[in-house]
Amino acid sequence: MEVDLLIENGRVIDPANNLDGQLKVAINNGKILAVGENLDFKPREIFDASGCLVTPGLIDAHVHCYEYATPISINADDCCLARGVTTVIDAGSSGATTFMGLRKYVVERSKTRVKCLLHIALHGLAASGCSAGAGGGESDTLAVLDEDACAQCINYNRDVIVGVKVRLSLDVCNMGKTENEAFRRALAVAERCSVPLMTHHSVSTVPTQKSLDPKATFGCPGDLRAGDIYTHTFHGYPNTIIDVNTGQVHSDVIDARSRGVLFDVGHGAGAMNWTVAELATSQNFFPDMLGSDLHLVNKDGPAYDLPTVMTKFLHLGMPLVDIINSVTSSPAKAYGIETETGSLTKGLSADVTVLKIEECDVMLEDSVGQTRNVRQRIKPIAVWREGEQIKVTVPVLWPNPDSIEKSLRQKSRQEINDDIAAGYEPRVSK
Ligand SMILES: [Zn+2]
Repeated sequence: MEVDLLIENGRVIDPANNLDGQLKVAINNGKILAVGENLDFKPREIFDASGCLVTPGLIDAHVHCYEYATPISINADDCCLARGVTTVIDAGSSGATTFMGLRKYVVERSKTRVKCLLHIALHGLAASGCSAGAGGGESDTLAVLDEDACAQCINYNRDVIVGVKVRLSLDVCNMGKTENEAFRRALAVAERCSVPLMTHHSVSTVPTQKSLDPKATFGCPGDLRAGDIYTHTFHGYPNTIIDVNTGQVHSDVIDARSRGVLFDVGHGAGAMNWTVAELATSQNFFPDMLGSDLHLVNKDGPAYDLPTVMTKFLHLGMPLVDIINSVTSSPAKAYGIETETGSLTKGLSADVTVLKIEECDVMLEDSVGQTRNVRQRIKPIAVWREGEQIKVTVPVLWPNPDSIEKSLRQKSRQEINDDIAAGYEPRVSK
């Protein structure tokens, strides 16, 4: 039988199907036809993946791609698909009154598969930045946190909307006055629609622990349910997951994980702190998903793209197969899209990524200007979306000195950084 494409000689890692080995991938009519050692097909085209990893098309669990409609969104095809990411989850750029623009102008027009979390605020992030400090918060007034409108929008757009988003931060919730109610309403809609809630939780009045009186107040991640997603896991601002007195991952965070709450990196411009990540991962607390939180303020550093976030977790000692799982099967399951993507299962869209682990010797920055000597880089080599090969790019400057200098301004706002945490044990020494 003739087939369109055979990808051969690479190490195929497909965690959803427990595959890891020298295998061939056959693609025909835009679909995965077969994965195996000896495939008896006549390929019209062969891609030689010698020395490379062949994985399901990568999924970025957290980006902002409502381009031009929010101040910070990026173009998904340019910043994600061209970096090997075939599926992205827009994490709350739109709300019930702005979602149809995202659907019509981004979801339906991008080559990248775009799924969305709907913000509990009607206008999503149309008027505020994604990073703390932008003027005006999307949840400043309770009048825009409309449970019914949010639930209805989800129910009409189940093919695209996969969850709810809320940001718990003083400066996007009227200096904290609306935080608890924003959280309550977001949780209520997620519960009503049986979808996950993703929370951003930093510089917040919401504590970590589960409330003793859930009718009155909530805790984050204490009140998150199994399947809900805690993003920006490794930030060092107030509400860091590390107990600042002991250097240990907070017991409420450990409890949440054992309950089934998922932890996303959500790197962004502020939420990746090498010190926090080293403390957590040395205690075997690794993320479930490696969302980049890619947006205009971090795409040229400190996040760059999803392969860079993967590179950082390789440096932190996360096993390679777990890294691939956290950008394929894990987010696919978390968002309920595993029947569409996230694996090389026969019949799924032929979304395939080829990556290479290259030797390097760079000082790579976190979001607060701290650097680590990174010696291995995960780089995209080739990508196919529904069987069509897309040209791959890499960041122009990597690392970018301007980004490091800018990020360094955030260092003094951290509760934990390299200076403050010097006394904590154990530390990862790399
Ligand atoms: Zn975000």
